Amino acid sequence: MSEFLIKPKIQFGTNALNFLAGLTARRAFVVTDKAMVKFGFANKVTDKLLQRGIEFQVYDDVASDPDISAIVSGMKMMDANYPDLVIALGGGSVIDAAKAVMYSLWHTRKESNRVKPQFIAIPTTSGTGSEVTSFSVIKSRNEKLVLVDEFMLPDVAILDPELVKSVPPTITADTGMDVLCHALEAYVSKAASDFTDAMAEKAVKLVFSHLIDCHHQGDNLLAREKMHNASCIAGMAFTNASLGITHSLAHALGGVFHVPHGRANALLMTHVVAFNANLHGDCRSEAAQRYAYLAQSLGLPANTVREGVTSLIVAINVLKDEMGMPKSIRDTGVSEADFYTRLTEMVGQALRDSCTPTNPRDVNTHQLETLYRQAFAGVSHS
Ligand code: NAD
Repeated sequence: MSEFLIKPKIQFGTNALNFLAGLTARRAFVVTDKAMVKFGFANKVTDKLLQRGIEFQVYDDVASDPDISAIVSGMKMMDANYPDLVIALGGGSVIDAAKAVMYSLWHTRKESNRVKPQFIAIPTTSGTGSEVTSFSVIKSRNEKLVLVDEFMLPDVAILDPELVKSVPPTITADTGMDVLCHALEAYVSKAASDFTDAMAEKAVKLVFSHLIDCHHQGDNLLAREKMHNASCIAGMAFTNASLGITHSLAHALGGVFHVPHGRANALLMTHVVAFNANLHGDCRSEAAQRYAYLAQSLGLPANTVREGVTSLIVAINVLKDEMGMPKSIRDTGVSEADFYTRLTEMVGQALRDSCTPTNPRDVNTHQLETLYRQAFAGVSHS
């Protein structure tokens, strides 16, 4: 038996933020970050709350890749003035922090007869899809831990493209490649289904059609809207199908060397595609056929499975090059000495990551290490 769950109500398109004008609640807890305050986005939200007569407090101390201390601070603030509405406004880091705060507080105050607050997620990057996933990624020392629980699924996701126009090109590239990685990994996952396939295929097409425009013309509202939708659709795919070892390796790389999440995925993705397809072997796996099918549907050369897989890898590299992304982990400034000193630790983290079991090809320590070595050097597979 299988299951496919779509939880949040999704408000999307220009002015989707106006959904807040119809809210009813007593007290809101707004989780956000300093950038959202600086850009005036936090005020856009709190102004709507004021108009509705909803009391609120703002927790804006969330940094990228939130750690346990940020969650504990958020819990204390939320606990002191328990809300009936939680709003997360920001990138994946903010939304994940809000989820972890809510989840942890709920489980440490089980006896209190409190009601679970309504939860609204408003993403301001087009990347993680966290607004529709039951995942939250929290750092503990140098390790990114992936919490997975349906409790953390928002009730409403608001996708307003106006909120992503300000995302600078580098972050647009990183987060856009995260979307592609979610779709690709969900598509070949051991837990993929007809439902998740439909979403993954659409998300891949939207990324190849619109990411470059978002990168080159940040205020292109149509391209921004398409990428915002792609991010959410890919999120729906992977919250149901889970992910694979690109994410496992990226979590460890990000945890140890602070490489932004989407960039880490972009650095590892093509090596994992080649590995999953067994490109340098018989290239006959189901994953290989799926990659080739995607290549074909993108109009890329795919007369054979091997040609399709190679075309997909080339297309991913072209996308990265057009956005000036680093070609290797070395290019991100991580020194060879530091990288090899921490390699065994990262491999260990990747092996036990919760995304590893659904990778289409089973993987061992040696293979994970090889993938890291390839990504460090920027090996070409085409
Ligand atoms: P992020 O949330 O860390 O944000 C990156 C930077 O962009 C921050 O400095 C932020 O302030 C800034 N920013 C955000 N919105 C902006 C805007 N509109 N204009 C200008 N700047 C803006 O990046 P992210 O890629 O969205 O999230 C990454 C985090 O999400 C990682 O910790 C990753 O592990 C996690 N993640 C979670 C899931 C999930 O399902 N929960 C999935 C993938 C990744």
